[in-house]
Amino acid sequence: MGFFRRKKKTEYTPTSWMIKRECLNLIFECAKSSFPNEFGGLLRVDTESKDTIIEVIILPGTISGDSHAIFQMHMRPIDFSIVGTVHSHPSPSARPSDADLHLFSKYGKIHIIAASPFNEESWKAYDYSGKEVEVAIV
Ligand SMILES: [Zn+2]
Repeated sequence: MGFFRRKKKTEYTPTSWMIKRECLNLIFECAKSSFPNEFGGLLRVDTESKDTIIEVIILPGTISGDSHAIFQMHMRPIDFSIVGTVHSHPSPSARPSDADLHLFSKYGKIHIIAASPFNEESWKAYDYSGKEVEVAIV
């Protein structure tokens, strides 16, 4: 039994999330212009409030099938204002696939899936465990 306890890294996770409407609209635009392919991006929060998604960083290239390898390349912890991922589903289902759930468990705290037809009624957000979370549009 050791006396040395590793200090737990306490990362801030908001109890409620918000997203700027223009940011969400940009997500829909990207999803539409990538259709019928998926698009992928990273979500960035306001570093002061830490709970408001203000920016989406579009990842170049197309997500190939369900591998989502594109995220794994980009989710290195270089930028702590990046809190999660967004990608589109060309289908009307915003339900995460097994590959999505695997991705969520590895990277980030909040993940948005925008499903076809890419509007305010066709997107959902999830936490690392794949549980649906409410994100208010502001
Ligand atoms: Zn997916």
